[in-house]
Amino acid sequence: MPLKIVAGNWKMNLLFHEAEALIREVIEKSPDNENAPLNIFAVPFPYLNLAQNLTQGTKNFAAAAQNCSSFKSGAYTGEVSASMLASLNIKYCLVGHSERRTIFKENADELVAKMNLLLENHIIPIWCCGESLNERKQNKQFDVIQHQMNTEVFTLTQDLFEKVVIAYEPVWAIGTGLSATAEQAQEIHSFIRKSISKKYSDDTANKTSILYGGSCNVDNSKELFSLKDVDGGLIGGASLKSDSFVKIISTMYELL
Ligand code: PEP
Repeated sequence: MPLKIVAGNWKMNLLFHEAEALIREVIEKSPDNENAPLNIFAVPFPYLNLAQNLTQGTKNFAAAAQNCSSFKSGAYTGEVSASMLASLNIKYCLVGHSERRTIFKENADELVAKMNLLLENHIIPIWCCGESLNERKQNKQFDVIQHQMNTEVFTLTQDLFEKVVIAYEPVWAIGTGLSATAEQAQEIHSFIRKSISKKYSDDTANKTSILYGGSCNVDNSKELFSLKDVDGGLIGGASLKSDSFVKIISTMYELL
């Protein structure tokens, strides 16, 4: 069975003191035992050490980076390498979030380089994929996602692929308040799992955590997390308040 995961993506939000209070509150109010899902805080770089320290020693919480460099080390001003993340004991990192793809023009080659560097440093990539609104309107979502898989995550060997977490995030649902319907989410998640079966094996497909992201909130998380091929969520806006994030974590906990 795939690991069930609730991950919060803070993006470029919250000041340091707010970050500390939020992590403390979420940990304090959430279930933390062997039956609970894995809960991840994907925080801005300056807060990684804080998030790592606060989650260390818990059973179910971990810190994640939102990005890393596609270069190994050296003269790349402003970049943060996978090995630097590893030196802070970080175990997860988002790769290919649609904001990185669209605003920062990250391409498949860079994303593959990032995933390989992360995996060399024993960090699990949370690889994001998803179609734009225009692509959905033209019914191209399956082709788009297949292409993203073929050129990015499917370039990994089976051994390495098995370490990756996938997040399906329809771009039109991110930050818009417009979530995919249960039917739309299940259809794509099942398509992703079948593609993994074809590329690697049924066993690999059945072990891969596939998260849904895109306006997942307190009201729709139960329906989304109950879907056969949805193994949790990547949560943006609703992860910025302890009340809503704790409720979403509890929703997953009650379904386990
Ligand atoms: C995200 O940015 O990964 C995300 C899912 O955002 P939101 O939940 O705010 O749509």
